Amino acid sequence: MELQTVMVLFYLYALILGLVVGSFLNVIIYRLPLGIPIAKGRSFCPKCHVLIKWSQNIPIISYLMLRGKCKNCGEPIAVRYPLVEGLTGLLSMVSFYVFGPSLQYLLVFVVMALLVAITFIDFDTMTIPNALVVALMVPAVFSFFVFPEPGFLARLIGIFSISVPMLILTMIIPDAFGGGDIKLMAVAGFLLGWAGSLLATFIALILGGTVASYYILKKRKDKHMPFGPYLCIGIYLSMHFGSAIINWYLGFFGL
Ligand SMILES: [Zn+2]
Repeated sequence: MELQTVMVLFYLYALILGLVVGSFLNVIIYRLPLGIPIAKGRSFCPKCHVLIKWSQNIPIISYLMLRGKCKNCGEPIAVRYPLVEGLTGLLSMVSFYVFGPSLQYLLVFVVMALLVAITFIDFDTMTIPNALVVALMVPAVFSFFVFPEPGFLARLIGIFSISVPMLILTMIIPDAFGGGDIKLMAVAGFLLGWAGSLLATFIALILGGTVASYYILKKRKDKHMPFGPYLCIGIYLSMHFGSAIINWYLGFFGL
């Protein structure tokens, strides 16, 4: 086969892997906060509780075929489901674009999947489940063996460089950050090293700050905003484009 054909197939695999895992993430996002066992039983319609057939559980395609409604009771299926699947598929292809067919891609894929789950659960419940932060420790530890950079010391410093200031800030201003945010940035610190996690936090503050200003302008002070999703976006971007962004930034100063 020509190299181009092989690459197209690889991207297709990356997309399908993302879609399938995204479908599983929907289960986690729905069940974990409710305390329903993840592995127990097939998916069911939240309204009529009819089990969803295997053939009706194909990412995105099933949603389109069912025209976004439960086949049994006609209850609308949240757009969230195909959205999470599509997003995971898309992010998987971005990871493949950056890391190519490698162990690094697989590791980054696992991190990305956990970040997607954390993002939506934090958005829904204002809490980051401990289980997901603990799960994130696995690829974080492995990343030390899979990625040559950053070094061990940079990662060790990374554990504390963001989490400790966040903790101190939260002790001064109650609810500045959630416990989940702090734990997330401790794990992300080892994954990205101190420089990478600094960049991740910087991105999160810019994005989160922009959205917060929008809410203030719209006078929607009632709107309580989780910070976890912005941290997750920051971690994802830093993991993929960290060195490129830092070099681009330093370029302004002729460094
Ligand atoms: Zn139903």
